[in-house]
Amino acid sequence: MVKVFGHLSPDTDATCSAIVWAWYLNEHTAHEATPFVLGELNSETSFVLNRFGFSVPELLVELAAKDEVIIVDTNNPQELPTNINEANILQIIDHHKLVGGLTTDSPIDITIRPLACTATIQYDLMMQAGVTIPANIAGLMMSAILSDTLGFRSPTTTPHDKDVVEKLAMIAGTDHLAYAEEMFAAKSDVSGFTDSGLIKLDSKKFEVGDKNFRVSVIETTTPATILARQAGIIEAIKACVTEEGDIDDVLFFIVDILNEEATVLTYSDLTKQVISSSFEVEVTTDTEVLPGIVSRKKQIVPALKL
Ligand code: MN
Ligand code: MN
Repeated sequence: MVKVFGHLSPDTDATCSAIVWAWYLNEHTAHEATPFVLGELNSETSFVLNRFGFSVPELLVELAAKDEVIIVDTNNPQELPTNINEANILQIIDHHKLVGGLTTDSPIDITIRPLACTATIQYDLMMQAGVTIPANIAGLMMSAILSDTLGFRSPTTTPHDKDVVEKLAMIAGTDHLAYAEEMFAAKSDVSGFTDSGLIKLDSKKFEVGDKNFRVSVIETTTPATILARQAGIIEAIKACVTEEGDIDDVLFFIVDILNEEATVLTYSDLTKQVISSSFEVEVTTDTEVLPGIVSRKKQIVPALKL
């Protein structure tokens, strides 16, 4: 049985792409596959699975050596189980920069394309294989692309991603733009998450000069509800830095989906310094608004410097 999974802090693409690809393998190849997630789902992903009638994939608690795995929506060993290189990786489907670190015993099937979402690549692979996509699978794929592109607002969006969403929306029988608003409203309800839960909800670690950061992003249509929790979030950041030991600080970005801007918490000297140099602003207070910034992958991470 092949285990299909995406990254830690699972998002809608990591979760839906794992379900979609496990479906494809079971229905159209000789493989038997099961999708897994590597953590608790965010409220948007829960909404999506519920909407299209899927249950939450099982949590991967342990990966055994030689387990057959397929990785979606990442190629970064830091975002995968610590013993990933002991597993038998069969395939990687991803749309992130190649970071290196994964190793295999034999040649494997790797598809990394500069598109906005893993589901867009999976659509192309399935079309190439002559597969007919059923409505509920199309719904998951459409949701993943709308999520990764923030409803086509993100600069990562390509014309092909848009085109694929329109095709999937027809199959799913869904008005995709109205549906995207529903997804973002679901994502914005983070009342069920603790302050430390918010930090890990959508978070990746990056090296900047000689410092290590967690870059956490909350995408929301109601940034005020997050800002109202600022004091608690800062306490949770300090606890997280102490507890994890391998990071110097957390850059916490609140992305306002509708106004297309980010507010970053600049509560410490280090966060003030890195945000000042990276975005050429003079940070004086404990928050900084960055107009037009919505994408960690395309706008935040490439800009980061000390
Ligand atoms: Mn992802
Ligand atoms: Mn993705």
